[in-house]
Amino acid sequence: MDLRPDACLIGGEWRSGSEWLEVRNPADGGLIARVPAMGAQETQDAIAAAAAAFPGWAALPASARADALRRYHQLVMDHQEQLARILTAEQGKPLAEARGEIAYAASFLSWFAAEAMRAYGEVIPATQADRRIMVIKQPVGVAAAITPWNFPAAMITRKLAPALAAGCSIVIKPAEQTPLTAFALGVLAQAAGIPPGVVNIVTGDPVAIGGALTASPVVRKLSFTGSTRTGALLYAQCAPTVKKLSLELGGNAPFLIFDDADIDAAVEGAMIAKFRNGGQTCVCANRFYVQDGIYDRFVEAFAAAADALTVGPGDAPGTAIGPLVDDAAVAKVTALIADAKAKGAMPVGAERPVEGRFVPPVILANAAPGMRLLKEEIFGPVAPVIRFADEAEAIRLANAVPDGLAAYVYTRDLARSWRVGEALEAGMVGVNTGAISTEVAPFGGIKMSGLGREGSRHGLDDYLELKTMTVAL
Ligand code: ADP
Repeated sequence: MDLRPDACLIGGEWRSGSEWLEVRNPADGGLIARVPAMGAQETQDAIAAAAAAFPGWAALPASARADALRRYHQLVMDHQEQLARILTAEQGKPLAEARGEIAYAASFLSWFAAEAMRAYGEVIPATQADRRIMVIKQPVGVAAAITPWNFPAAMITRKLAPALAAGCSIVIKPAEQTPLTAFALGVLAQAAGIPPGVVNIVTGDPVAIGGALTASPVVRKLSFTGSTRTGALLYAQCAPTVKKLSLELGGNAPFLIFDDADIDAAVEGAMIAKFRNGGQTCVCANRFYVQDGIYDRFVEAFAAAADALTVGPGDAPGTAIGPLVDDAAVAKVTALIADAKAKGAMPVGAERPVEGRFVPPVILANAAPGMRLLKEEIFGPVAPVIRFADEAEAIRLANAVPDGLAAYVYTRDLARSWRVGEALEAGMVGVNTGAISTEVAPFGGIKMSGLGREGSRHGLDDYLELKTMTVAL
């Protein structure tokens, strides 16, 4: 099966372009592919194809949609290695992480295959003897997905799977850096027997495609994962047509370590929460708050573990941290490090040089308010560490940002884990763990980190409408 059509999927046809976008390997800047640079017209075509396919797909019994999603899951896992190699080539992450992402991406297909069967309605006791009230769930209609480059496969399936399970058709716009994984997923959707027009993929100018998707009255739902700035813009663009909206935006996750924590476990969790995908995930720990009594020991152990990470191309054996995605990312991360150092932050451990897009891990002790990297999402392998005295101070510092996606707490005190977990302003809290993402649990944020939840049984609701049927006897 050719997983590299390098063309857009519209109404079941692979459509080439007249203008092109270049896809480059972040590790060496080499050209990997050219993909169509499409705009508003092609997006309209994709919306029309999705609208044409919607009634037939929605009318299928849920079990038929579930069968298709299960076949799709199997095909993704059968092609895990090829997909992982495409993903690493365009995104940069270590191959082992890419394989993991493909399995994670596939997990949404099997999870929502099962959830498709459970879109139960309800019967409500009426207030009048001659009335019966029922609530049914129906698909919202044509959905749109705009996805980022940091998880080129999983951010697509986390939207596509619940959409398809609910009975929606979908138009997907992947990030311009990582369209090839999206195309490969499109090929496998076709191979799974998902009908033409149910899944459409367009690449090109984000402003033109996003503008057409948000302005269209036919598109009834937008699910976006990306920056808070773009999410807020799309929120406004969806207002005139009052679309349903899911937004998964930036995080600025605090990672709290109390004196009573298991220090080895805290370091292990910190490594996962900080350095997965080179620090380029929205749930990455952005700020480490460590209590006085354990601070020095934690910083030393964390720096030693970080120094042991191998930085290199994602497809080289042993690589733990790949390149950052592009030159703009490198410029931003290095500027944040320089700002913090100028304001008194102290690098701990080996200071390895930045080479091209390869940014080695940096642990910065003595971080303090006023440093940019405490206010902005770093999206790189940099860990600022701040000292705190007591629980109240830790909670105050952790919550002092407009974002609220993930947070992490390390303590062996059960009561404290509940107190702090409940007080943290975040959609997800990891207690004594740095790994919180799974298809079975709701993923999403509060405050400026977004709207809605993905994954879990709640993820299906984002693609369903409730309809109340009141019957007079
Ligand atoms: P990042 O900074 O992580 O690249 P973005 O929010 O810019 O985050 O990108 C996430 C997704 O949003 C990508 O698919 C990108 O092409 C898309 N995007 C960026 N700007 C717009 C826009 N104005 N309208 C629609 N989509 C956009």
